[in-house]
Amino acid sequence: MSARRPESFESRGRRASESSGKATAGSESPAGSRVHNSILMRRPSLMQEPVLVLNATYEPINVTAVRRAMVLLLKGVAQAEEMHNSEVHSAAHAHRVPSVIRLLAYRHIPQQSRALSRKNILLRDRNTCQFCGAVFPSSELTLDHVVPRSRGGRSSWENLVACCYRCNNSKGDRTPEEAGLKLARRPRPFTLHTSRQLMRLIGHRDERWRKYLFY
Ligand SMILES: [Zn+2]
Repeated sequence: MSARRPESFESRGRRASESSGKATAGSESPAGSRVHNSILMRRPSLMQEPVLVLNATYEPINVTAVRRAMVLLLKGVAQAEEMHNSEVHSAAHAHRVPSVIRLLAYRHIPQQSRALSRKNILLRDRNTCQFCGAVFPSSELTLDHVVPRSRGGRSSWENLVACCYRCNNSKGDRTPEEAGLKLARRPRPFTLHTSRQLMRLIGHRDERWRKYLFY
């Protein structure tokens, strides 16, 4: 199994920040591409449903989409632990759709595994403006450099926060202190701890996830 690492979770953030899943075919092995083309294009909405990914130790480590989860199952990298009631059909077979899968080989998860992207910053900050504390749809949020770029502020996990347009305007090219604004919390990298909180949020929708997430 170790010789054939199908997909590193380290790269998943980058993958997720691409338009969700449309561009994945080219990155699969030939077998994966075949599977992808024959089955996984059938029901786009179902294919985007979230699937909880457990490490070999049953520790929840990730959320992926049905499409990706089925590729991992068909490659023999993971096994299904919980199933949806739905099926997808290829020419010859019906495939039950997983809700929770478990990797067969243990995978070490590095602390910092998410790509720095607008999407992931908004996820980390739960779509909450870090200055006024209000929750907004993604389209009504921007990213604010806490220390402005003009002052040498970098584009990093520690210096980028979700921010509504109103706060962004009133802050302008100043530091929070200068603008009389206070950060809701110190911005941090997207860690496994953050991921787990998000998995729990998503997991509230799916009964089958609960025993793995709430203990
Ligand atoms: Zn605000």
